[in-house]
Amino acid sequence: MSAISVNNLVKQFQGQTVLRGIDLQVDPGEVVAIIGPSGSGKTTLLRSINLLEAPDRGIITVGDISVDAARPLAKQKQQIRALRQQIGFVFQNFNLFPHRSVLENIIEGPVIVKGEPKVEATARAFRLLQKVGLEGKENSYPRRLSGGQQQRVAIARALAMRPEIILFDEPTSALDPELVGEVLATIRALAQEKRTMVIVTHEMRFARDVADRAIFMDQGQIVEQGTARELFTQPQQARTRQFLDKFL
Ligand code: ADP
Repeated sequence: MSAISVNNLVKQFQGQTVLRGIDLQVDPGEVVAIIGPSGSGKTTLLRSINLLEAPDRGIITVGDISVDAARPLAKQKQQIRALRQQIGFVFQNFNLFPHRSVLENIIEGPVIVKGEPKVEATARAFRLLQKVGLEGKENSYPRRLSGGQQQRVAIARALAMRPEIILFDEPTSALDPELVGEVLATIRALAQEKRTMVIVTHEMRFARDVADRAIFMDQGQIVEQGTARELFTQPQQARTRQFLDKFL
């Protein structure tokens, strides 16, 4: 069974079609990078998997939970909640709670949403902080941290919910160049644990090195996909070649 399955996903914004019938399957343990020009629909696709965008057509399946745009989403709230519980989402702009400490940011989900005992959630948060290289920062507030540190807190927060899948939406694009590496190193370590991850990124070398599979999108469609090695070294489509020539 696929970890994620997207069937014929269509999304419009104000009459403009930004996803034109996307089909995508992600296997358990697979790391998939989505690349493509700005405005091609990468972020919308990622957000749709988590139902942060409401699809106009299509079926999203995560694990054994399906949400079908043919039925009113208001009648699928339970499925949407169950689907989201399997997913950790890491945003471009971190989306930490600014008035809560690092520790509070990390334990909020496990304690409030999952009802975990605070002691356990806290112990786990300390382990996660160590994992993302931020031991000792538990009492800091987000504004006192660099962007790279904030994004690593956001990754720890996502992991705290023990998701089956992690979706990364351009996780380094809001960072100063010198802070990109530390966040990519954290994501790379997660990839080595064979977690199921989908990463929208403009970091082509990172995508090539870390992803099992790379997907090139343009104008709301998947133009080409293959193993990361194939896509980056032998792109078959002219559009893919043109895009990659600018980076590599
Ligand atoms: P990418 O991630 O590839 O840069 P996006 O998924 O962000 O592309 O955007 C795809 C298209 O959808 C763009 O034309 C963008 O302007 C449009 N779009 C995205 N989000 C919204 C929104 N909330 N409202 C209106 N248009 C949107």
